[in-house]
Amino acid sequence: MRIDCEICGGQSLLSLNEKRNGVDIVACQNCGLVWNRAMHDEQEQVIFYREENRAQNEICQQKLVSRLSRAACALDFLNENLQPGLRHLDVGCAEGTLLTLTRAKGLKVTGLELDQNWSCFAREVRQLEVLPMTLEDAPLKPASFNLISFVHVVEHLFRPVRTLSIARDLLDDAGYLYVEVPNLDGPLPAPRRFFRRLHNFYFSANTLCAVVSRAGFTPVRLGCSQRDMSVQLLAVKSSNNSSAANDGQDGLSQTWCDDAAQVYQHVNEDRRRYYLMFHLLRQWRQRRRLGQWAFQRYGSLLNGEPGE
Ligand SMILES: [Zn+2]
Repeated sequence: MRIDCEICGGQSLLSLNEKRNGVDIVACQNCGLVWNRAMHDEQEQVIFYREENRAQNEICQQKLVSRLSRAACALDFLNENLQPGLRHLDVGCAEGTLLTLTRAKGLKVTGLELDQNWSCFAREVRQLEVLPMTLEDAPLKPASFNLISFVHVVEHLFRPVRTLSIARDLLDDAGYLYVEVPNLDGPLPAPRRFFRRLHNFYFSANTLCAVVSRAGFTPVRLGCSQRDMSVQLLAVKSSNNSSAANDGQDGLSQTWCDDAAQVYQHVNEDRRRYYLMFHLLRQWRQRRRLGQWAFQRYGSLLNGEPGE
């Protein structure tokens, strides 16, 4: 049972009424962070991603199109910060689509990926340097990267503040952190699809800013992915101890809190959407459209892999 809040350490929790085997979703009454109180412990989790998750991660064309549209949205958000020669680390890089795109823009790229199917694909098909390990275990030099990205990864972490702090040490002083996570503020699909065993944390823009600032970063730009409304966040390293200086006395900026009661209301109101087929249909059509858009825009960078 994970009962202490990752952001504020609070232990006063509100159940969001989403409880089933391995899932028990709560919000911190102090800062509004949402997490799965019944999350796997850290060791179980690493074993899961390294070994047991593989069956779900068969590589197919549909998945690659979906990954390209996600990477394309991230690249569009990051575009103005990308320059040839910068060193990019993608943590949890999966099949390496984002790295393939940033490499085509002239960046020097490295990935970390636990899943063997994905990391073999990234190495063999995309010729990327990908290490099959966690950020905690990776033998990387301090201040050796200019951009570190976590695309749909931070919600899976066991201790996101600790992992992001490690990323902070690996970034040079002018470097950027890019984080993208599912958006708790958006219209939520079915609770069973949104609140999943594999996701330990559920962020809004506020609580994501609070987590990265806890890890020693200052958020500089927020966005909302047109693909699925994911929260996109660009942050820079806070100068020494300034994360404490920016914050209130409990170490948390007031504006980066959510109200747990409002979160409860949002989550439980949105249950009805599950039954609205048009919502799902619209989402499906949007994904198809984005897949085509992403291939037109960036497909040529994938080096002759088949398009849609
Ligand atoms: Zn809290």
